[in-house]
Amino acid sequence: MPELVVENIKKSFHGTAVLEDVNFTVADGEFFTLLGPSGCGKSTTLSCVAGLETPDSGTIRVGDQVFFDGTRRSTVPPEGRNLGLVFQSYALWPHMTVADNLALPLKLRKVTKGEQRRLIDDVLTKVDMAHLRDRYPHQLSGGQQQRVALARGIVYSPGVLLLDEPLSNLDAKMRDQARVWLKDLQREVGITTVYVTHDQVEAMSLSDRIAVFMHGHLQQVGTPTEIYETPATPEVAGFIGRCN
Ligand code: ADP
Ligand code: MG
Repeated sequence: MPELVVENIKKSFHGTAVLEDVNFTVADGEFFTLLGPSGCGKSTTLSCVAGLETPDSGTIRVGDQVFFDGTRRSTVPPEGRNLGLVFQSYALWPHMTVADNLALPLKLRKVTKGEQRRLIDDVLTKVDMAHLRDRYPHQLSGGQQQRVALARGIVYSPGVLLLDEPLSNLDAKMRDQARVWLKDLQREVGITTVYVTHDQVEAMSLSDRIAVFMHGHLQQVGTPTEIYETPATPEVAGFIGRCN
């Protein structure tokens, strides 16, 4: 799996700076979390990596592939970026079964029918949903829908998985279970992951490293222990401590 490098990303909306010099590198197979309060720029950062937003300046690359080099001319479009995306709303197609929801990204990539079946069986087994392959989304619980959404994000073996608050629609008990399950899955698949959350407990329990994000700046990047024991600024200390 390739590493993801984000360098000096700036982004403004209507003259208001939302991202100011955002820099981070996510290593091969790492679980990297952008943690910060609502409105600090986490989703905008993921959208820039995914190509759904274009930064004003900076560079973004995965391995040797340059997604964005600071000029709009050479920007790689979202469909050329081989990323897995799972956002807060699961957005499964309601009129399609679980298996058909998973087949869609494979069809788009011109995977043969036989190979589609093999990949879908494989990923459904990984997320413990093989017995529900012919169900429709409304016949599943929130937690099961979330598993299908995650399965859809990894079924075509993307280079990097981008997860934007994927557990926030679950109730507290299910969120705890999903956290354990998500970590096991990421370990098993070993996929380079960028995870976005405003929840410090989630960040601390899932991440290899955390970037604490406030007002469009990364305040500190470190392991959960480093962030917890030696916060770099009073703001980081306040944010980490406030909800513990
Ligand atoms: P987070 O995900 O950390 O909650 P966002 O990245 O969604 O934060 O938003 C950061 C800031 O950028 C917010 O003030 C938000 O209102 C603003 N913003 C995000 N997307 C847009 C957009 N498309 N147009 C205008 N403002 C936006
Ligand atoms: Mg967000």
